[in-house]
Amino acid sequence: MSTALVTGASRGIGRAIALRLASTHEIVAVARSQPELDRLVSEVEGAGGRCRAVPLDVSDPEAVRAALQGVEADMLVNNAGVGVMKPLLEMEPAEWGRMMDVNVNALYHVTRAVLPGMVRRGRGHVVTIGSLAGRNTFAGGTAYTGTKHFVIGFSESLMLEVREHGVKVSVVMPGSVDTGFGGGGRDKSWALKPEDVAEAVVHLLETPPHVLVSRVEMRPRTTGR
Ligand code: NAP
Repeated sequence: MSTALVTGASRGIGRAIALRLASTHEIVAVARSQPELDRLVSEVEGAGGRCRAVPLDVSDPEAVRAALQGVEADMLVNNAGVGVMKPLLEMEPAEWGRMMDVNVNALYHVTRAVLPGMVRRGRGHVVTIGSLAGRNTFAGGTAYTGTKHFVIGFSESLMLEVREHGVKVSVVMPGSVDTGFGGGGRDKSWALKPEDVAEAVVHLLETPPHVLVSRVEMRPRTTGR
C-alpha cells in the first residue's frame, strides 16, 4: 500500500484529506494535537485503513528531521497553515513570525525530509495547500497573502526541478473553506467543505502518469453575502 504523509491532519482540510486518502494509502498524520490525531487514527482503523499519528510542530526543523527520518512517503500533502488577519500596524512580531514559520519555513523542513526518497524511487507527488489569497490581496492580509503567494512560487519552481525525476508537484488553491481556520466564529455554511478540497487532491492523484496538473484553483459557487 502507498503511504501518504499529511500535515495539519488533526482537523479541517488536512483531516478530510487524510480520511479521503485512507482508502488507498497508509496515512502518516502530522500535527501538534495528539488527542485529535488519536481520534483520526481510530476512525481510519475503524474503517479498515492504516494510520500512524506523528505529533510534531512542523516549524521545528530538528523535530521534523527526527520524526520523519525513515518515513517513505509516496505522497506528501503540505497542508498545515495558520492565518492571523490584521493590519500590519497591529501585527505582533510573534504573529508575523508564526505565519512565516508554519506557512513558509515548514514547507522547506517537511519537503526536504520526504522528497529525497521520492526522487530516489523515481515516483511521488507533493501537493501543497495554497489559497486564492496566493494571487489576491486584501487589507489585513500582508502576512497571510504574502505566505500564500510564496506557496505558488515554491510549488511551481519545485515542480520544474523534480518532474524529470518522476515526482509530480501541485498546488491546490481554495477560496473560503468551512473550517475553524483563523479563529472561526463566522457562518461559513456557504463555503467549500474540507471534503471538497480532499476530492481535488484525489483528482490530482488520479491523473495518468504523463499528466501533471500543477495548479488547481477552486471556490464556492456563491459568496454567502
Ligand atoms: P485549521 O482547521 O485551522 O487546521 C490547521 C491545521 O494546521 C491543524 O491541523 C493544525 O494542527 C495544523 N498546524 C498549525 N500549526 C502547526 C504546526 N506548527 N505544526 C503542525 N501542524 C500545525 O485550518 P484549515 O482551514 O484546515 O487550513 C488548512 C490549510 O488550508 C492552511 O494551509 C490554510 O492556509 C489553507 N486554506 C484554508 C482556507 C479556509 O478558508 N479554511 C482557504 C484556503 C486555504 P495542530 O493545531 O494540531 O498543530
